[in-house]
Amino acid sequence: MRKHIVAGNWKMNKTFQEADDLVSGIMDEMEKTTLDSNTQVVICPPFPYLEMVSDYGDDSYFMVGAQNVSDQESGAYTGEVSAAMLESMDIDYCIVGHSERRAYYHETDEIVARKVDQLLKYGIKPIVCCGEVLEEREAGRQFDVVKRQITDGLFHLTAEQFGEVVIAYEPVWAIGTGKTATPEQAQEIHAFIRGLIVEKYGKEVADETSILYGGSCKPGNAKELFANPDVDGGLIGGASLKAEDFMGIATAF
Ligand code: PEP
Repeated sequence: MRKHIVAGNWKMNKTFQEADDLVSGIMDEMEKTTLDSNTQVVICPPFPYLEMVSDYGDDSYFMVGAQNVSDQESGAYTGEVSAAMLESMDIDYCIVGHSERRAYYHETDEIVARKVDQLLKYGIKPIVCCGEVLEEREAGRQFDVVKRQITDGLFHLTAEQFGEVVIAYEPVWAIGTGKTATPEQAQEIHAFIRGLIVEKYGKEVADETSILYGGSCKPGNAKELFANPDVDGGLIGGASLKAEDFMGIATAF
């Protein structure tokens, strides 16, 4: 059975002390609740807090992810963080191709592909984001956009490499807007993505691939989103900044 994953993307939020308080709050919530045994919680704090968050618990509570990685191996790339550095800190996951990075930092599908390669080389699982902007949805182009992002960003991988990848479908019009995709809209695209994987790598690989939904996911709507057969969890932005809300989503399975 493929894994259910609930990953919190803190983005550029929280001071060190606030971040420490948030992990501590998540740990407290975890002590109070029972997670479905197939659910993996992942916390993706800003780079400077990775070690602090990692030091909090062992993998039985949560795993730690970065929010970005360089597409280059090492060297004169001021301000960048490499996959080798993440691996040397035992980081398990890394978000790649988030719509904010695509929009503000011009991250193309080709760059996404190189970042994925770097992560896989160092044994880090990429959480690869895809999703259409509002105008694309309104023009009925969401399937074409997602197909291009998945094909150009990921389909150069071998089946074995692809087995390490997590996909997050995040309609850009739903991110941080309070506007969530309906469960039907989410299921429709998730099933489409799984179909693309079946065509490329076969049913066995597709059945094992976790496809997360992201976009204004909250404790109040997580249950109906996660009830869909092809929705295997969530990538959570705003609601991951409050321990209770985040764990309310993590326990929605
Ligand atoms: C995100 O940015 O990945 C995200 C899903 O944000 P939010 O939950 O705030 O919409």
